[in-house]
Amino acid sequence: MLQQVNGHSSGSDAHGGESLREDLQEFLSGEAPLHQLDDLTKVNPVTLETVLRCLQARYMADTFYTSAGCTLVALNPFKPIPQLYSPDLMQEYHAAPQPQKLKPHIFTVGEQTYRNVKSLIEPVNQSIVVSGESGAGKTWTSRCLMKFYAVVAASPTSWENHKIAERIEQRILNSNPVMEAFGNACTLRNNNSSRFGKFIQLQLNRAQQMTGAAVQTYLLEKTRVACQASSERNFHIFYQICKGASADERLQWHLPEGAAFSWLPNPERTLEEDCFEVTREAMLHLGIDAPTQNNIFQVRGKTTPLTCGSGDGQLFDWLVSVINSSICADPDSWTTFIGLLDVYGFESFPTNSLEQLCINYANEKLQQHFVAHYLRAQQEEYTAEGLEWSTLSYQDNQTCLDLIEGSPVSICSLINEECRLNRPSSAAQLQTRIESALAGSPCLGHSKLSREPSFIVVHYAGSVRYHTAGLVEKNKDPIPPELTRLLQQSQDPLLKVLFPADPEEKSQEEPSGQSRAPVLTVVSKFKASLEQLLQVLHSTTPHYIRCIKPNSQGRAQMFHQEEVLSQLEACGLVETIHISAAGFPIRVSHRNFLERYKLLRRLRPGAAPSPHGPPPDEGRSEWSPHSKQATLQALLQDILHTLPALARAPAEAT
Ligand code: ADP
Ligand code: MG
Repeated sequence: MLQQVNGHSSGSDAHGGESLREDLQEFLSGEAPLHQLDDLTKVNPVTLETVLRCLQARYMADTFYTSAGCTLVALNPFKPIPQLYSPDLMQEYHAAPQPQKLKPHIFTVGEQTYRNVKSLIEPVNQSIVVSGESGAGKTWTSRCLMKFYAVVAASPTSWENHKIAERIEQRILNSNPVMEAFGNACTLRNNNSSRFGKFIQLQLNRAQQMTGAAVQTYLLEKTRVACQASSERNFHIFYQICKGASADERLQWHLPEGAAFSWLPNPERTLEEDCFEVTREAMLHLGIDAPTQNNIFQVRGKTTPLTCGSGDGQLFDWLVSVINSSICADPDSWTTFIGLLDVYGFESFPTNSLEQLCINYANEKLQQHFVAHYLRAQQEEYTAEGLEWSTLSYQDNQTCLDLIEGSPVSICSLINEECRLNRPSSAAQLQTRIESALAGSPCLGHSKLSREPSFIVVHYAGSVRYHTAGLVEKNKDPIPPELTRLLQQSQDPLLKVLFPADPEEKSQEEPSGQSRAPVLTVVSKFKASLEQLLQVLHSTTPHYIRCIKPNSQGRAQMFHQEEVLSQLEACGLVETIHISAAGFPIRVSHRNFLERYKLLRRLRPGAAPSPHGPPPDEGRSEWSPHSKQATLQALLQDILHTLPALARAPAEAT
């Protein structure tokens, strides 16, 4: 039988006649109005322009979710719509016999994954990859999905831990404000922009109740602590402390009232995220008690010597580990998981550096995973069904990945080598090395027109120019050894944890103070964590949500075609739809197809059993695979013959 594909199948329903009538009305009246097209694979023809028009029509009709084959497209409404995310609606999707028959929604995906984990004989872990550019709604979507699971997968017991009795779901939700306070900032593109990637694994027991969660974060933008683009802010927590500390705390944390701090740029930009109480409360629920909190804010408030980004990175990593120890279930208490990946989308700015290289590298990997998974799933399905198919061709981005991460020579290996050799090297030299060593790659563009030393990578989502200035230094991510030593001598208990004395350090050091240990660069750490992530994703059934930002002003009811177009290109949405449509666009199980259309055989005047067609017993729904193709053909012929008669038939006939 054809299995449901990513919430995209049709099936039998109690009102088969009704849906048939709808199908026919649509058929007879031509195409459905654009805003009513719930699935972009039904747009005809599928081009950037038609997809764009359909999304625009839906957005203006306050319809924010649209299926695109195996992907859900989520347009950011930029306005509160409580009824679209109410617990009642969550329950409606949860209770629906076929949630995929309801309007497309993130709850469709949420419920589909929840059922997949539950219903299979051999449970398969699930993952939801939420992507999109900054401000498109990824974090919002992930948070909302977490709330959905907190409702549908609520555990009956409360945890008596850290002296606070509460449900684990609540504690998992509490991890959000803490991580956002320390890892989110107000940027030009999003007032609450996550400056790190996040994979959260929601752990479920045999009864499909949430028993815990584990968080993995990626690539925190540590440099923000020390420098921010003009009009942008530092991490929220700094503003929360300054605004929310009591007079006593100000004194203790060396924060005189009215003083201007270099680490507090644009303090006049106040946000609703600046609520110190919410962060403190959530920390308390996660088991971070008042003295430890005091310690954290003291370190933050003073922020010498932590003005260097590395200190911030250590603190963030430590917080994530504390959160994990507070929410992670013990290994025997869970059997399956649903993973939520909130990951930065493809980026291309006027100036791109190591951060963009890593982000776009991650997006290439995820795109490869997406295409490979989806095509494989489709082709396996056809084989199982005994259906004929021709190999689907698609844009393979392996060449680009070889350029970035391949061996023996790639962009990553060359940048790492510069770090390892620790030699003086100019930005122009790095450009020359990359261009000469990788000249054979079709994905390396030509950078002749640039005045700044740079190289171009032709990504699946577009070409990006990376500037080589500062790349090697960023990749080293050094904490100066003198600073580490100073921090290690501190009497502050938190700093002692963040910078533990390394007993082997002395023996590894050379007289010059240079370490002989292999350099663990940003790129190599990122590559390792990305590989780990992909291994996890490969072991799951993935689902995809592509978030789209309709305009960069954050305004409701405003749809900027140019901006949306570039996002559609960047996420390869049209290709995705083509991949979906390259296969059979409508997926109905054999049984459901019969259920739905068998009445046509009765209605057709003088219908006689086709020589290849179904056996006289119409209720019988399982035929051998070799007869399926013939059956389909016969039934389709029936439908075509019967349409005019059926259109005239009174509604009761169905
Ligand atoms: P990203 O994580 O992709 O950078 P966010 O999830 O932080 O973006 O969303 C940016 C802002 O857009 C949010 O702060 C919120 O104001 C708004 N937003 C996003 N999704 C929705 C939604 N579904 N409904 C209402 N507002 C939303
Ligand atoms: Mg975000």
